[in-house]
Amino acid sequence: MNPIESILDHYPVLVIDGALATELERRGCNLKDDLWSAKLLLEQPEKIRQVHYDYFKAGADCAITASYQATIQGFSKRGLNEEQALALIQKSVRLAVEARDEFWADQANRVGRSRPFVAASVGPYGAFLADGSEYRGNYGLTESELMDFHRPRMETLIEAGADLLACETIPCLVEAQALVKLLEEIQSIPVWISFSCRDEVHVNEGQRLEDCVRQIEASPFVSAVGINCTSPKYIPGLIGAARKVTDKPLLTYPNSGETYDPNKMDWNNDPVVESFGEQARQWYAAGACLIGGCCRTTPEDIRVIAGWARSSV
Ligand SMILES: [Zn+2]
Repeated sequence: MNPIESILDHYPVLVIDGALATELERRGCNLKDDLWSAKLLLEQPEKIRQVHYDYFKAGADCAITASYQATIQGFSKRGLNEEQALALIQKSVRLAVEARDEFWADQANRVGRSRPFVAASVGPYGAFLADGSEYRGNYGLTESELMDFHRPRMETLIEAGADLLACETIPCLVEAQALVKLLEEIQSIPVWISFSCRDEVHVNEGQRLEDCVRQIEASPFVSAVGINCTSPKYIPGLIGAARKVTDKPLLTYPNSGETYDPNKMDWNNDPVVESFGEQARQWYAAGACLIGGCCRTTPEDIRVIAGWARSSV
């Protein structure tokens, strides 16, 4: 069963969750580390479970797992062997499943909504490099090298029981094409593919979003396409461009509009966009029907989106 279709059959908007890593930092966790939120899979898994639970409570229809930066290669730099790394990647799914099951076990939480699902994060190759490459692309890797990088984690996330793969913050066309080829090879579960963009026309490496979407949207494994971790101000234009070349559901979960400094491994304190959740109405109007938040967004932002998405539209 495709969880996107089953929710959009009943509701006009599927509510995606908000930031995981920056929300954990807001709660006092130190993530200044190459493994970022994946570090907490090792050290404080209960905190991850709690953030997932809080997003469900705020109204999210799905949780995106803490596997964005969790890779065999990344964990091996920490001295973990392949088996230990794969166990942590599985654990990222289990934490989200546990939070979802706990949330759904309470009948009072079921009113007026669908059972939430678990979207396993597949971060880009650039996230493993941990130098901000997901905001630039230009890795110098071939499609088949990128397939080799993504294969073991993707297989593990599927085995662990994820409902969907969230391929996210993809900065370039070649990586999206590698992912689609891999999905076809391993006969994947449903997937969304989400690009990170640098303006209202181009993905971060420089190709036009419209061209990237056109190249990958036909795959039967691609259930939705869109944009995440991008400034909210570019979203209406980007959604409009994607809509021209696909009939598939469009998703967006922008960041708060602040900018990330890879040298500091921190976000610049740019003024936060006022009422992210209210601004999200414009993305719905532009044609997006899966809507949430990326870095620096909070459960409160998701509560606002769920509020209008389930009542007024
Ligand atoms: Zn982000």
